[in-house]
Amino acid sequence: METTKCLIIGSGPAGYTAAIYAGRANLAPIMLEGLQPGGQLTTTSEVENFPGYPDGVNGQVMMDDMRAQAERFGVDIRSSVAEKVDFSARPYKIWADGGTCIEAETVIISTGATARYLGLDDERKYAGMGVSACATCDGFFYRKKVVAVVGGGDTACEEAIYLAGLARQVYLLVRKPYLRASRIMQDRVLKHPKIEVLFEHNATGLFGENGVEGVHLVKRQGKADEQRYDLPIDGFFLAIGHKPNSDIFRPWLETDETGYIKVIDGGPCTSLPGVYAAGDVADPRYRQAIVAAGSGCKAALEAERFLNE
Ligand code: NDP
Repeated sequence: METTKCLIIGSGPAGYTAAIYAGRANLAPIMLEGLQPGGQLTTTSEVENFPGYPDGVNGQVMMDDMRAQAERFGVDIRSSVAEKVDFSARPYKIWADGGTCIEAETVIISTGATARYLGLDDERKYAGMGVSACATCDGFFYRKKVVAVVGGGDTACEEAIYLAGLARQVYLLVRKPYLRASRIMQDRVLKHPKIEVLFEHNATGLFGENGVEGVHLVKRQGKADEQRYDLPIDGFFLAIGHKPNSDIFRPWLETDETGYIKVIDGGPCTSLPGVYAAGDVADPRYRQAIVAAGSGCKAALEAERFLNE
């Protein structure tokens, strides 16, 4: 049985920032970096909204830099996934893949969230070449271009409005004959001169030589008047929800109905003392690297205080 003062689960901006702070505070943290080291940012191309990079930075490069910074402060980063936890008593028990059990006095959960995709092969084919699940991250590349957003919830409406500030034309692809979003968001979208809502539309594929040039659409799929056609677009944005990576923690921690870990007063404290949540796993609202990094910092500071007390 291994023991640690501080175990960090997950390695996006939240996890690495927590690791840097915990490392500098001599907590000798262990980090289980998970299946996708660096997290969601490693799948975007350029990050232009993280302060400190006036010329922007490649998402993978930024995550490699954060990792190197954590290593500099002695963080024991392991290429490993947390498979099971037992938070019934302190010290908390965490089992990594391979069966190793670690006992931790404090745990920082920074496992992130996963954007949901439609499951089309073309989404993978054009990843980083016109397909995105984050308008705030990638919208800037579509100035004066034509984009489609998939989804009918608040996120989709918000992303469509954000993109309409940059793009020439935005199509909102909604599978139902109505929007699920709040009334106010619906009104904004429906009245926006640059947004056209295509109700009862499903995307079945994408096409293009060196990136997305268009989307294959089906209108009123399965109905007698079903119609198939191609719509030329430059960018394809998914906004059909996110899934927080919190499954193994749900029996032990309070979460909302989607699975986002509930935190106290917007800070990193969860319903259990010594267990903290940072980054997208606890944040359905902002989902930004800089916010995640800030919450990772708070989590490490809280862990340090908890251990001192
Ligand atoms: P939602 O679950 O609310 O909406 C998801 C949307 O994606 C729905 O319109 C759904 O369609 C559609 N969808 C799901 N799967 C598919 C699919 N396979 N093909 C096509 N369409 C699909 O997720 P959101 O991310 O929009 O919002 C999550 C939560 O966060 C909500 O509670 C929301 O209110 C909240 N939120 C609040 C904001 C704010 O207050 N400013 C901003 C953003 C989010 P269907 O309706 O047919 O199921």
